[in-house]
Amino acid sequence: MNNLLDQALRTTLQKIDNASHAANRPDKAVLLAVSKMQPASAIRELAMLGQRAFGENYVQEALAKQGELEDLKLEWHLIGPLQSNKCSEAARHFDWVHSVSRIKLVEPLNRYRPENAKPLNVLIQVNIDGEASKSGCSPNEIDSIADAILQAPRLKLRGLMAIPEPSPDLEKRRSSFRQLNGLFQLLQSRHPDCDTLSMGMSDDFELAIHEGSTLVRIGSALFGARKA
Ligand SMILES: *Cc1c(COP(=O)(O)O)cnc(C)c1O
Repeated sequence: MNNLLDQALRTTLQKIDNASHAANRPDKAVLLAVSKMQPASAIRELAMLGQRAFGENYVQEALAKQGELEDLKLEWHLIGPLQSNKCSEAARHFDWVHSVSRIKLVEPLNRYRPENAKPLNVLIQVNIDGEASKSGCSPNEIDSIADAILQAPRLKLRGLMAIPEPSPDLEKRRSSFRQLNGLFQLLQSRHPDCDTLSMGMSDDFELAIHEGSTLVRIGSALFGARKA
């Protein structure tokens, strides 16, 4: 068993616990282990240590690993940008999709979600800093996308996801997280079933939890730096 991975998982879970506690949260934030560019063997090791939820960015890469790890019955989250031509695989092979950013994606995700599977959990990805290069909808599109998802019986709207601009200025990030939490509260006031705010990564998850994150997506702090 890999001691480094064990140590990294414990440390990360402890930090999540502490940050959730410090923020007076009724439930602690959930850890999503981001396993993009990591081999299936590393995912298996982390799963053996108790981690069940894994996030992948690329559908094809994820499918290969899911095949190798089928015996483990893990929970898979698609967190990378979703193209229309990948909706069928996303709907059939994931438990969650974090990157629903256009109304156009709703109908195919719903259509391809198998009848015998639980509804697909979806998050609306918001482009919180208005960066032209980033995916995500603008805040004023959230309501219309949410309405479309609510009309889709094979999908379950769970909340919002965002990747704030990786600014070295922590106050800027705090303000992005705060804005996002405001949008999440608004969504929750209209749709009380929404329970997930996916924000925070390896270098800012404690700040994100402080500002209301309920799910943190962590890669390098668990697996070490990715080889590009
Ligand atoms: C890669 C990635 C992460 C994890 O990033 P780390 O900095 O390695 O923790 C989280 N969310 C998304 C959408 C990513 O693409």
